[in-house]
Amino acid sequence: MPHSSKSSGKPLARAFLLEEREERMSKRSSRWPYIRKMAWDRDRKNRAPCHICGERIDYSLKPSSAPLAWEPDHLVPFSKAPELELDLANIAASHARCNRQRGSGAQDMAVGQRSRIW
Ligand SMILES: [Zn+2]
Repeated sequence: MPHSSKSSGKPLARAFLLEEREERMSKRSSRWPYIRKMAWDRDRKNRAPCHICGERIDYSLKPSSAPLAWEPDHLVPFSKAPELELDLANIAASHARCNRQRGSGAQDMAVGQRSRIW
């Protein structure tokens, strides 16, 4: 009974890393994770398609976890209207793939293509 073989406590660290990486990609306010969650709930409920390519999004995937997973996209970019960052009406559903492709140039896509399976 004394020795309990510790099973891996890894998944948590992994999720954290992902969040952290996202945050660094774009300076977001501290309320952003909350708004993002609301947008996720809204879009998942409506099964909103990607507003960039029009294809359906796989809502069974964790947000931003795969190219075809959901990711929030600001209709008016954050750089142009930071005050709309937390406005749900300005946030549309998109594929992580499409969002990144459009948002930060195609070269980001090529690099990000390298699989991130840990
Ligand atoms: Zn798309």
